[in-house]
Amino acid sequence: MIVCKFGGTSVEDAGALRRLHTIVADRVAEKPLVVVSALAGVSDLLVSTFEDGADNEPRLDGRAASTQTQSIASSPGPTAYEALATRHFDLMCEVAGAEACHRLDPWLEALRAGPRRGSAQGQAEWLALGELLASAIVTAALEAWGLRATWFDVRSVMRTRGENPIQDRPDREVLQRLVDRHLRHSIEAGGIVVTQGFIGCDAGGRTTLLGRGGSDFSASLLGAALQAERLEIWTDVDGIMTAPPRLVPGARRLRVLSFDEAAELAYFGAKVLHPATLHPAQEAAIPVLVANSRRPKTAPGTPGTLILPDTTAYHDERAVVRSVAVKHGVTVVTVHSTRMLMAHGFLERIFAVFAKHSTPVDLVSTAEVSVSLTVDDPRSLQAIVDELRAIARVEVAPEMAIICVVGDGMRRARGIAARLFRAVGSTEVRMISQGASEINVSLVVADAEADDVVRRLHEEFFQGNLPRAVFGESFADLETAPSLPASPPSPHRLARVAADLAAKHGTPFYVYELDRVEAQIQRLRTALDHSRARLAYACKANFHPALFFLMRDQGVGIDAVSPMEVERALQCGIPADQVLFTANNVSVETLLAVHDQGVRVNLGSLSDVRRFAAHRAGTEVFLRTNPGIGAGHHAHVVTGGMDSKFGILAEDLQEAREILAARDIRVVGLHAHIGSGSLDAAPHLEAARRLVAAATAFPHLRSLNVGGGLGVPYRRGEPEFALESYGAGLREMLQSLEAALGRTLELWVEPGRFLVAQAGTLVARVTCRKETAGHIYVGLDSGMNHLVRPALYGAYHAIRNLSAPGAPLESVDVVGNICESADVFAMSRPLPSPQEGHLLAIENAGAYGFAMASHYNLWPLPREFVLRDGAVLDA
Ligand code: ADP
Ligand code: ASP
Ligand code: MG
Repeated sequence: MIVCKFGGTSVEDAGALRRLHTIVADRVAEKPLVVVSALAGVSDLLVSTFEDGADNEPRLDGRAASTQTQSIASSPGPTAYEALATRHFDLMCEVAGAEACHRLDPWLEALRAGPRRGSAQGQAEWLALGELLASAIVTAALEAWGLRATWFDVRSVMRTRGENPIQDRPDREVLQRLVDRHLRHSIEAGGIVVTQGFIGCDAGGRTTLLGRGGSDFSASLLGAALQAERLEIWTDVDGIMTAPPRLVPGARRLRVLSFDEAAELAYFGAKVLHPATLHPAQEAAIPVLVANSRRPKTAPGTPGTLILPDTTAYHDERAVVRSVAVKHGVTVVTVHSTRMLMAHGFLERIFAVFAKHSTPVDLVSTAEVSVSLTVDDPRSLQAIVDELRAIARVEVAPEMAIICVVGDGMRRARGIAARLFRAVGSTEVRMISQGASEINVSLVVADAEADDVVRRLHEEFFQGNLPRAVFGESFADLETAPSLPASPPSPHRLARVAADLAAKHGTPFYVYELDRVEAQIQRLRTALDHSRARLAYACKANFHPALFFLMRDQGVGIDAVSPMEVERALQCGIPADQVLFTANNVSVETLLAVHDQGVRVNLGSLSDVRRFAAHRAGTEVFLRTNPGIGAGHHAHVVTGGMDSKFGILAEDLQEAREILAARDIRVVGLHAHIGSGSLDAAPHLEAARRLVAAATAFPHLRSLNVGGGLGVPYRRGEPEFALESYGAGLREMLQSLEAALGRTLELWVEPGRFLVAQAGTLVARVTCRKETAGHIYVGLDSGMNHLVRPALYGAYHAIRNLSAPGAPLESVDVVGNICESADVFAMSRPLPSPQEGHLLAIENAGAYGFAMASHYNLWPLPREFVLRDGAVLDA
């Protein structure tokens, strides 16, 4: 028997539920009890709707209003309750079908009716709805996907003492009896039992709660009562990290941690575990796994963090500190008394005051005439202080934070304090205390400074080569690691083709998938939605002839930047009037030769203008302007603004016009291109606006060319270029310009990367694997000579192991075969363990990959293969 607890983000939507299904399905043989939290954000919303009171409720409609709230029903619209109800209803519908939705009825009705305010009991019942709804949806989803699952109301076993309905203490004896009587046999019978975390029930049958974040605690209590073999806490991070990961992205995954260490961390603010979680599991000696439900199969051995009773085997001199936690919003109470302090019984009197008000004390430090204590629950603070003032002088310092440095090895280590103070630097330390267990040292500093101190401490203790047996990948790297697909994984569509090509032709090689290029053309056309919009492919991104043919067939023109690109476009059948030549710093002979082929030239400097005008009176040209702003994924690819060599600035346009007019040359197009690979539409629209502003001075204008530069996401999860707002913005500008001019214009857009980046993959073979000095180098038979973007721009390219996609993840450095230290494709990248002979796919390499390749080190250029619908063309 095992207990698997899924936190809010692990049940939040259909994708999360599919992953949950995979995790549970893998464990059927171990007889899992599934404990769930409310969907992410739901408990918070329930708390705030409860606290807001009727006056602050959002718009209500008569249907949803309860009698209590009807009086303020003004404008119609959904209430927060209605929105919560809809979210659960829709999710149930999505995962288990409409016919399952009736299972939510009683709780949806309660939601729509609104909370019973004014009592803690009412609040407990209101908050419990989140877990009740979530568990019903999880049960239905598991059933719908083929597992035998039953819903179980945890209130029939989770007995609490009835002292405080919203933060009650469990009655473990009764809990044990009830679990044995009502729960154990259904789990043993083999079906999957799904139940709620966080909620319980007192002896009088009233619903109670275990305190915020309490689902972890529920799972641990149930695990202990069932003598489970393991407790798994599935959450949204890959385990317990060496610091709060969203504060310190360099925080590393801890592969193992002792119960004591984990308990200290949870107690002192590591939100990943509820502070009380570990106690029951530790008592029952049940190992606890904390892992990421998005990535259940990380790393060799186990994923996440394994919490064990004893980790002395992992002791390492180099890393006695294991993690840093921070607890914000703490108040320090200092009691001074010259007369009384040393008298026996005085401390007892102080503590009695705190105990009387049920306020726990976290840290204590004593000096000869004073004692300082910290509390994080301010509710009874005033009363406590009033009472203390009757016996001593009392100082209260609010807005403090406790920072706690934890590590079993600190018991034996020397020099920790010196390093601690070095990191703390000049920050004022209000209290310092070494835990009696000797495995932690806690500091109290002003809350506003705490995050900085945590960062500095992390830097001090977790630099350099840390033992791999204990420390895993960094949070930042894990965040970009592949997650378990939400649907059953289908083999990567390239894997088979790549293996065939590699067997036949060897490696490395590029593959280009034409259907993906077409899909991008379609997307862009849809977004532009303008009958006079023309696309001109910026072929510098990738000049493979197959792409020119595709553009020809799709009616896409070409943006060429060299006479050779012009020539290839014409050879591949692109009509000359659909080619625009935008070179910079070419000879006048080149300009003239290209122009004489019927290709329009786009002049980007006064020098171009003068030299061209001298020879070709009575013709037509485009002018490349510099709109004074630039944007790109890297400084190297910004092509507009005051420090750019490209284009004619607004202040020089008048002169250009005069030179051309004197030779009767008409400016029929205005162009601007501000840079490459930006994901933000705003600078592009601003450049277009400036182009539009310049346009009215050109009476013969027929075309407005806004250039390219549209980026694509390279990292998983990065947003897409905002195509819709880009298209809409351009349409709007063009329409108002046309209205002002009283005639229509063509709109040219020059996408390069946008069309081809995602369609291209560089496939290379692992030639050499080298483990040394804390690195695993995975050496490929390709290098920066084939794909220079990482070396040149520090660019990120996703990498896939085509040969072993399901292998355990490990953190590797992927490097090439070139004699340069910059020859690195990826550093500390979590990948399914790459072994010699494996094929790796370096993705998003269709743009500026082969196009920038060289013969450096005299290696040959890679081959290129073209695929349509997964099949190789002309190989
Ligand atoms: P769940 O909803 O699954 O219970 P929580 O939000 O309660 O998840 O806890 C997970 C969060 O804890 C993480 O997203 C992370 O930001 C935070 N956290 C704070 N300290 C740590 C730490 N040392 N290791 C891992 N996570 C931490
Ligand atoms: N849903 C509850 C909360 O957010 C309990 C939990 O998620 O652990 O506090
Ligand atoms: Mg939690």
